[in-house]
Amino acid sequence: MQSYIPLFALIAGLLLMGGLAYFRASLLAFSLVLTGLLVAYSFVSPFSQLFWLAYLLIIGGLNFKALRQQLISKPLFKIFKKIMPEMSRTEKEAIDAGTTWWEGELFRGAPDWKKLHSYPAPRLSPEEQAFLDGPVEQVCAMTRDWEITHELADLPEEIWDFLKQHKFFAMIIKKQYGGLEFSAYAQSCVLQKLAGVSAVLSSTVGVPNSLGPGELLQHYGTKQQQDHYLPRLAEGKEIPCFALTSPEAGSDAGSIPDAGVVCMGEWQGEQVLGMRITWNKRYITLAPVATILGLAFKLSDPDGLLGEQKELGITCALIPTDIEGVEVGRRHFPLNVPFMNGPTRATDLFVPIDFIIGGKEMAGQGWRMLVECLSVGRGITLPSSATGGIKNAALATGAYARIRRQFKLPIGKMEGIEEPLARLAGNAYLMGAASDLTVSAIDLGEKPSVISAIVKYHLTHRGQRASIDAMDIVGGKGICLGPKNFLARAYQGAPIAITVEGANILTRSMIIYGQGAIRCHPYVLNEMAAAQDPDFNRGLDSFDKALFSHLGFAFSNFVRSFWFGITGNNFVSAPYSDQTAVYYKQLTRFSSNLALLSDVAMGTLGGNLKRKERVSARLGDMLSQLYLASAVLKRYDDEGRKTEDLPLVHWSMQDALFQLQTALDELLLNFPNKLVGKFMHWVLFPLGKPLHAPSDQLDHTLARILQQPSETRDRLGQGRFDSRVAGNVYGELEQTLEDVLACEALYDRVCQALGEKRPFTQLDKLAEQGLHLGVLSPEEAQLMKRTEQGRLAAINVDDFDHQQLENRPAQPQGSHSSWDSVA
Ligand SMILES: Cc1cc2nc3c(=O)[nH]c(=O)nc-3n(C[C@H](O)[C@H](O)[C@H](O)COP(=O)(O)OP(=O)(O)OC[C@H]3O[C@@H](n4cnc5c(N)ncnc54)[C@H](O)[C@@H]3O)c2cc1C
Repeated sequence: MQSYIPLFALIAGLLLMGGLAYFRASLLAFSLVLTGLLVAYSFVSPFSQLFWLAYLLIIGGLNFKALRQQLISKPLFKIFKKIMPEMSRTEKEAIDAGTTWWEGELFRGAPDWKKLHSYPAPRLSPEEQAFLDGPVEQVCAMTRDWEITHELADLPEEIWDFLKQHKFFAMIIKKQYGGLEFSAYAQSCVLQKLAGVSAVLSSTVGVPNSLGPGELLQHYGTKQQQDHYLPRLAEGKEIPCFALTSPEAGSDAGSIPDAGVVCMGEWQGEQVLGMRITWNKRYITLAPVATILGLAFKLSDPDGLLGEQKELGITCALIPTDIEGVEVGRRHFPLNVPFMNGPTRATDLFVPIDFIIGGKEMAGQGWRMLVECLSVGRGITLPSSATGGIKNAALATGAYARIRRQFKLPIGKMEGIEEPLARLAGNAYLMGAASDLTVSAIDLGEKPSVISAIVKYHLTHRGQRASIDAMDIVGGKGICLGPKNFLARAYQGAPIAITVEGANILTRSMIIYGQGAIRCHPYVLNEMAAAQDPDFNRGLDSFDKALFSHLGFAFSNFVRSFWFGITGNNFVSAPYSDQTAVYYKQLTRFSSNLALLSDVAMGTLGGNLKRKERVSARLGDMLSQLYLASAVLKRYDDEGRKTEDLPLVHWSMQDALFQLQTALDELLLNFPNKLVGKFMHWVLFPLGKPLHAPSDQLDHTLARILQQPSETRDRLGQGRFDSRVAGNVYGELEQTLEDVLACEALYDRVCQALGEKRPFTQLDKLAEQGLHLGVLSPEEAQLMKRTEQGRLAAINVDDFDHQQLENRPAQPQGSHSSWDSVA
């Protein structure tokens, strides 16, 4: 036994060191404890001299700055300066803009769950609630999406007027200018409700409240510009649009060819300093009806009229569209969701220099202005619209699945249908959670550029997949267009949300992790800043400090990840001990894994990581699923930890965690350095992959939630327009669902009295028979008749005269093929 003492002491010492690494002890604490351990070890082991030697080399070297810098930091600093990827001005401005919030915690490997739960849950003010209950409900009731999308290809005049009159376009404009100055949460609630009813309605309202003239003027406008335009925007006297995209510059918006040259020119009979601008923009939402155009272009000053700089760069100006030479009015036709969208052009248009937003001082500052404001709008408009869309799609499809019968059974009871129904319910819960968490960050004053990219991508992506699920369930009823169709326009329009405000593939491949890695990592930004310091020694000092903190951080994440892997997360703390505890533990594990793999990827790929889009995409997926999953835990807590909502929490968590595990697994299987990939796979999954997708049993429970009215179901669809007013197909479906459920016992009673099981059709005739047989009261018979009407309305589709569908417009301009001229 005596002879084992040194071995036990060694193991105990290693465990203690592992514990210190786990809890991220400082280098000093680490060194002190190690010194103490070695002193103690010297008494029990004859080999302690060897350890003392290693100790003196490593700990001595690490703790003496001059030695450490000479031996380690300086050579690494030189290499780092060489391999650090070149960053364009636009990239640098994108990184500098915005703030980090909860995603920073998730990225750093040890999320503080108490912090997450201490963020206040979003709330509406009485004024915002009144707006939702009043004008928003009213406009939803006025809206007939078929009329908008098929007959008018526009909102009817009375809806345009209503929107302007009730300041729907002024939700972000401050009260001092006559706007509503709503919270991000209120804007999100408004957009969710509108999106469920009509995508044309929600995008028409969403765009002026997102990145555009209103937002830019409030942040950067001169007082004169603010005093002139903001009250007019608030009253709806001006309709704004924002034009960045050009035919040659879509995703690569920084490369716009649209150009302005500073020069003197004539303006209203006088010679003034101005700009001669040429632009050709496309895809511009609201451009066909806009009265002011926010325009992004590249400004140059060859004659030095503004200063010494010749190429000023991207600049934003406000151009009234009634100036002669501004071309607006023509329309694109986005996927049968005909919101106002079209091109705008001008050639050599002269405008005064004070048309620049913020005046001539802001010449060349356009890109910075855009990226600084982008994160707020991107976190609200599309994620909220996607959430509003899925709430309606999920509940309406659930109702339909319970109403529609085939093979003598509601289709929603069939196992095959339960699977997509569960995805609809689970995604609706998760998306609602993520949307709310994101807007609450914005209301806390954050400009969350990484989070807004996460929700933009994942909520529109999940929303699109959900609309496919809904269409598959509803079948022919979803396919045949017409006023009775409650799904198809959302399904058709889903790719629009995927493409705009940063196309999704680009967002996933480059933006989420690309920005996240630099913004959220605790040390990389400092290392990069040190490398750019023109003073070598000062740079080396900062680099040395960041590097050693970084190495300690990476070592800690390594120890934590391995420990979590071999212990199956059993010793991780969680803020609750109920059924959600396991999820906090799993998220903590994956958060450490992400922190570790980020360092491994950056360390092995260096500047190449930027080009390895699939590595970046999968690391981004990990960060994104961590965010979405923590939003679910936050939602459950904010809503009072209602156990009846647990199935939705389980599904959302298990789905997000499984997707996270898949991203991690695929990342390691495809890691550019195979050896590193294999080793990390062993470190992170020493006992194999622990997680599975949600079970069939859980799918079954969620499918039932969608088909049976309950408080849980109401919470899932919270805020959607389901009022039972004439013409609202969603309200009608809800009524019919309740009626069908109430009728089933009556139907059984009549069948029993008839002595045969009849099909659940022609309920009006069964009602008559029930009355005749004396097994139904007149009220019950009446309910059966109403149910039959509702049932038929739910399952029937529209049909049209041939002429009604015929449409022979003139050839659209520019639609001839380039081959025509060749022929
Ligand atoms: C209906 C509609 C409304 C719009 N409204 C406005 C507006 O009001 N104002 C405005 O300025 N713009 C607007 N846009 C433009 C929009 O915001 C997008 O920026 C633009 O559509 C993207 O360009 P693109 O469609 O030409 O795609 P492209 O840039 O040609 O991209 C094609 C594909 O390549 C992918 N891709 C591109 N680069 C990368 C990369 N590095 N890595 C991986 N994948 C990549 C993209 O994700 C996409 O899938 C609108 C667009 C549409 C369709």
